[in-house]
Amino acid sequence: MQTTPSDSNALDRKARMKIAFEDLPVREVSDRIRDFDETFLPIDAERAKREAMRCIQCPAPAACVEACPAHNNIPAALALIEQGDFLGAAAIYRATSSLPEICGRVCPHEQLCQGACVRNKKGEPGQTGALEAFVADYARAMGTVEIPRGAPTGKKVAIVGSGPAGLSCAEQLVQRGHAVTVFEAFPAPGGLLVYGIPNFKLSKRVVQARLDDLRRAGVEFVSNARIGKAHTIDQLFAEGFSAVFVGVGSLIPATMKAPGEDLPGVYQSTDFLIRTNVPEEFLPPDMHEKPRIGRRVAVVGGGDTASDCLRTALRLGAEEVTCVYRRTEAEMPGGKKDRALAREEGARYRFLTQPVRFLAGPDGWVNGVECLQCELGEPDAKGRRKPVPIEGSNFVVEADTVVLALGYWPDPEIGESTPDLKTHDWGLIEIDRASGATSRPGVYAGGDDVTGPDLVVTAMVAGRRAAASIHEYITGKN
Ligand SMILES: Cc1cc2nc3c(=O)[nH]c(=O)nc-3n(C[C@H](O)[C@H](O)[C@H](O)COP(=O)(O)OP(=O)(O)OC[C@H]3O[C@@H](n4cnc5c(N)ncnc54)[C@H](O)[C@@H]3O)c2cc1C
Repeated sequence: MQTTPSDSNALDRKARMKIAFEDLPVREVSDRIRDFDETFLPIDAERAKREAMRCIQCPAPAACVEACPAHNNIPAALALIEQGDFLGAAAIYRATSSLPEICGRVCPHEQLCQGACVRNKKGEPGQTGALEAFVADYARAMGTVEIPRGAPTGKKVAIVGSGPAGLSCAEQLVQRGHAVTVFEAFPAPGGLLVYGIPNFKLSKRVVQARLDDLRRAGVEFVSNARIGKAHTIDQLFAEGFSAVFVGVGSLIPATMKAPGEDLPGVYQSTDFLIRTNVPEEFLPPDMHEKPRIGRRVAVVGGGDTASDCLRTALRLGAEEVTCVYRRTEAEMPGGKKDRALAREEGARYRFLTQPVRFLAGPDGWVNGVECLQCELGEPDAKGRRKPVPIEGSNFVVEADTVVLALGYWPDPEIGESTPDLKTHDWGLIEIDRASGATSRPGVYAGGDDVTGPDLVVTAMVAGRRAAASIHEYITGKN
């Protein structure tokens, strides 16, 4: 329920509306493309109070709360920030979110809370994401972030996958007194928070601090532990776990099946981002080698991953970095904010361009992408107009490094190795949306392995929802 402290309307709406919109502090392009540090600078207490005062305290249900998948009580938190009660505001976020320091940084706020803010009608929304990150960081700096452990129930729960879904499920279950073990295939926990989202959007330091909170609360992490064919979910039950949560994401890269896709110098986006953004001690042994970055880099795709690859290539010193996308900018799935940052940093865009073949130079290394010009045709099932290649319009985009950011598929392994676990569409796990329960009693699922590639916040909400159902299941309430 949305509540508001009584004196938060001390300033009337008109006075609030008059407080000018200020852009968030961001590092200069020339400075930020030299390293992988976060792009946005932290705001200070005075700036946070000023920003919070711009909230006109809409009556419940406020549009920002409705648009937030976690339904964070944003107006109440902002009312406390305005009064300088940053710890109180942080507690409001923590009540509905397991990862506020992360969501405050990486949520596409312009499509969620900020997009819904009534002040967005003039393009000047409340900058709620920055305020969420500010109070979460403040509470951490004050040493007040602690996950309270519930009285032990004697029950054990296994979590498979340590992305935002698995971590949030773990956070909720330890608070209810259950012993939680997280099994993770990679050498370190974090999922795409570590092995995907680049540092310039989300510092690994922020993720590690949250992982340390979970460790302190008693969550056990088992790394390099792939659950599936060799170590099955059935075995986990035999080992004494009362329930299993599956949050394995959707991590199989989509391919084009175009000639030359396997040439040296053509990288899959996740492989490229992991090799360039992840500290060596977290890398699997076969991923230590850095990608060879040429002078000209082409990134194929139009989502957020493509923006991340463009911005990574620029930071690695490439001179010409071009995004190749087969529709127009209007159909691009990636967020506008990331695209604007990429453009500012020097990325170029070639729209209505369909790669058909990757070309090799005399040394066998990729040296170009043969493309066809496209025009827009009829809308597809989702209403997006289809690209229609124009016959004979072939041309070459020169590139000595190519990154394919074409999207992701679910991994069918868990479905194939778990009897009675229903999946659909190449391996997405079927669940009851209200509880997260799968077709297999005691097995719950949530995040990208249920929805397909989505967002940190939606995975986080799914993990929390499943934790509530798991608690009811293992304590016999359901
Ligand atoms: C490059 C990139 C940038 C992104 N940027 C943003 C962004 O800015 N904002 C945003 O909101 N979202 C972003 N996303 C999307 C977001 O990261 C995902 O939606 C979210 O991480 C999904 O969470 P999850 O817990 O379902 O899965 P994941 O984060 O994918 O975690 C799944 C984990 O399960 C592990 N695993 C897989 N199979 C097994 C197995 N069999 N046994 C054990 N472990 C296993 C994997 O190794 C992985 O660690 C981005 C995604 C990518 C790829």
